[in-house]
Amino acid sequence: MNVLVVGGAGYIGSHCVRQLQAAGHKAVVMDSLVYGHRKAVSPETPFYDCDMADRPALLEILKKEQIELVMHFAAFAYVGESMSDPLKYYDNNVAKPLSLLQTMREAGVTKFVFSSSCTVLGEEAEPPFTEAMPLRPISAYGQTKADVEVILEYCAKAYGMSAAIFRYFNASGANEAGDIGEDHDPETHLIPIAIQCALGQRKQMYVFGDDYPTPDGTCLRDYVHVDDLSRAHIAAFPKLEEEGVLLKYNLGTGTPASVLEIIKTVEDVSGLPVPYELGPRRSGDVPAAYADSKKAKEELGWEPQYPTIRSIIETAWKWHKAHPKGYDDRD
Ligand code: UDP
Repeated sequence: MNVLVVGGAGYIGSHCVRQLQAAGHKAVVMDSLVYGHRKAVSPETPFYDCDMADRPALLEILKKEQIELVMHFAAFAYVGESMSDPLKYYDNNVAKPLSLLQTMREAGVTKFVFSSSCTVLGEEAEPPFTEAMPLRPISAYGQTKADVEVILEYCAKAYGMSAAIFRYFNASGANEAGDIGEDHDPETHLIPIAIQCALGQRKQMYVFGDDYPTPDGTCLRDYVHVDDLSRAHIAAFPKLEEEGVLLKYNLGTGTPASVLEIIKTVEDVSGLPVPYELGPRRSGDVPAAYADSKKAKEELGWEPQYPTIRSIIETAWKWHKAHPKGYDDRD
C-alpha cells in the first residue's frame, strides 16, 4: 500500500514509518517540521516539508505518490497549552485535519488512520477503558481529538470513507535499533524526564501528587511501546478495504504502572539514581487510566511485543543514553 504519513517526522509517526517499511508498504512522509525532526526520517524515504492545510501541495503529493491511505499523526499534544491557547489547538487539530480530509476527497483517497487519545474519555470513566465509553474530554486537546473522531463518523456514513481511530494510552519507548526515539521540546512526559534525571541532565524531578487513591498514592498510567502502537495501525489495513467502515480501538498493555514504579524501573535499568521530590498534584491528572485492549486483540490479532514497563524503558534508555541531546546528537 502507498501510505502518506502526515506528521511522519514526529515521535509516533516516525516509528510508524519504520514499521510500515518493515511490513513492505511504501511510506511517504509529510511534515511541517514545527515539532518533527527531519533526522527522524531516513534519507531514502520520500519527504515533503509541507503543512497539511496546504491543499494544492497536498493534492499534488497524493496524486504524484499514488497515495491509497493517509495516516495522521500531526496533532499538537500539550494538554496545558491547549487550555491556555485553545484556538491554536482547534486550528491545528481540527481545522487542518478537516482541510486534509477535504483534499483527500478531492483526490479520491478514501482510507484514513487517525491517532486519537485516551483523553477523549472523561474524568468520571472508570478504568479499564473500553471503546464503548462515551466521549467526555476535559481539556481542549482531548476535545479536538473527540471532534475529529465525530467528523470521521459522519464522513464514513456520508462518503463511504473508511477510517480507523486508535486511542493511545501513554506512548513510550524507542525503536530497537536505537536511532529514533522521543525528543520533545519542552519535554513533559514522565519516562524521558526520569531518564534525563538519571543522566544528570536535570538535577531532580517532581512526583505530581502522592495522595491519590492508588496502591502507592501516585498516578497509575498504561505505558505502551510506540512500535506496538504502530503495528496495531498496520494490522487494521485489511479491514479498511471495506467501504464506509469506522473502527475504534483503545491501545494499551492493560497493566498500569505508578509514577514511583516508573522511577524505580528507570533506576534499575540505568543503574543510576533518579533524584525526585514529592510535589503537589498536577491539574487535570486522573488517578488511574488504563486500557481494555481486548477489541484490538480479538479483531486485529494485536499483542504488545513490549508487555512490561521494564522492556519499554530499556528501549527508551538505549535511545536517550546514546542521544542525550535527542536528534541534535544524531548524524
Ligand atoms: N508525572 C510526574 N512528574 C513529571 C511528569 C509526569 O509525576 O515530571 C506524572 C503525571 O502526573 C502522570 C504520569 O506521570 O501521573 C504520566 O504523565 P505524562 O505527562 O508522562 O503522561 P499523561 O498521562 O499526562 O499523558
